[in-house]
Amino acid sequence: MTFDKFWRKSLKHVAFIAMSAAVAHIFISYFVSLPKLWEMMHESPLKNISAFLWVFTLTGIMYFNFAWFREQMCMIICPYGRLQSVMTDLDTIIIGYDEKRGEPRGKKADANAGDCVDCSRCFTVCPTGIDIRNGLQLDCIGCAACVDACDEIMVKLGRSPGLIRYDSMRGLSGEKREFWRPRLGLYAFLAILGLAAAFFFGVRSHQVFEANLMRLGGTPYFLEDDGRVQNLFEIHVVNKKDVPHVYEIKPSLDDGLEYVIAIPTPTLKGGQGMRVPIFVYSPSDVTVKTINLDVSQDDTEEVRHVTAPFLRPH
Ligand code: SF4
Ligand code: SF4
Repeated sequence: MTFDKFWRKSLKHVAFIAMSAAVAHIFISYFVSLPKLWEMMHESPLKNISAFLWVFTLTGIMYFNFAWFREQMCMIICPYGRLQSVMTDLDTIIIGYDEKRGEPRGKKADANAGDCVDCSRCFTVCPTGIDIRNGLQLDCIGCAACVDACDEIMVKLGRSPGLIRYDSMRGLSGEKREFWRPRLGLYAFLAILGLAAAFFFGVRSHQVFEANLMRLGGTPYFLEDDGRVQNLFEIHVVNKKDVPHVYEIKPSLDDGLEYVIAIPTPTLKGGQGMRVPIFVYSPSDVTVKTINLDVSQDDTEEVRHVTAPFLRPH
């Protein structure tokens, strides 16, 4: 370890950490929005402890990946490569070595040798450390680094590039590649079916507004002087349209409970959400165990029914 090597390595790891932190922040911004993330970055980590811990953990995972794990991610963890190799056939375009042209390997001056001069460039540049001349391997991530490396050598030797190239296994062995084959249609059909199912499910499950009932934290119930039991809830209503709407929150049943809804008919702007506190009182002779509320929007018949347990002393 010389001083020169030390500062270069240190700088590399500082760059890895900076990139990891940037990726972790961008990932978190999917969930909290960019302006909110910017705001959080200017506050104490203790104020947003869960977001801070997420960023901290993700930065650690990314740094581990950049600094050490690297290609093992593709080879051991990522399922995409495995899926691709299952789908590959003799006509699939892959990165391959033209054995007929390259073998037998030998020096440039050797008239009986093929085009491969055994310079080792192709496996030196390979990020997963494989020798593509041994044929298609599961570890190949299709980065094409070996293609570029070998082409450089071929150009220097005055030979035509493409000893390692994009081609099918059939093409590499000198046969004609078939484009139209049954599995192409089957994969297209399955992909369209999957997308259509996802689209159908998305349309079916789309809600014009959302309503979620939550119990407020703290004491589960309060005992009033007159013997009634009080529970405190909050209903979160979200307008998922881009125009304002009026909502109505009301009890679903005449169950003997008394509901005090802070804002029974809130008006929400497009995309706006509102948390409405709800106080529920149970007279001492009522033993109802669940509260039931209906939320409706002014222009639709849809009614969101929400429930929550009502807690009382045993
Ligand atoms: S880079 Fe090309 S010439 Fe060099 S060893 Fe690999 S295949 Fe052979
Ligand atoms: S395409 Fe990339 S991963 Fe595959 S053999 Fe070539 S250099 Fe290695």
